[in-house]
Amino acid sequence: MNCDELLRALNEYVDDETVLALCREFAEHLAGCQPCQIVVDNIRQTIQLYRAGELHPMPPEFQERFRRALRERWKAKFPNSEV
Ligand SMILES: [Zn+2]
Repeated sequence: MNCDELLRALNEYVDDETVLALCREFAEHLAGCQPCQIVVDNIRQTIQLYRAGELHPMPPEFQERFRRALRERWKAKFPNSEV
C-alpha cells in the first residue's frame, strides 16, 4: 500500500469487510508514513473527508464503522496500546 492507495481508500465509502481487510495495510503503512498519520489524525479531529477537491462531512455511520473497525484491529495488533 502506498499513500495514494491509502488516501483513495479513505475517500471511498467501503463496507465493513473492506475496512477490515484494509486495516492491516493501513496500520502497516501508517507506522512508517508520517504524512498519512497526519491525514488520519486530521480526519479524526475534523470528521471531514477531503474528496474531489472539496471538504465533505464524513457520514456519521461510516465514521463510526471505520473508527470501530480500526480500533478493533489496532487492539488486536497492539494489545498494550491505548486506542
Ligand atoms: Zn503514506
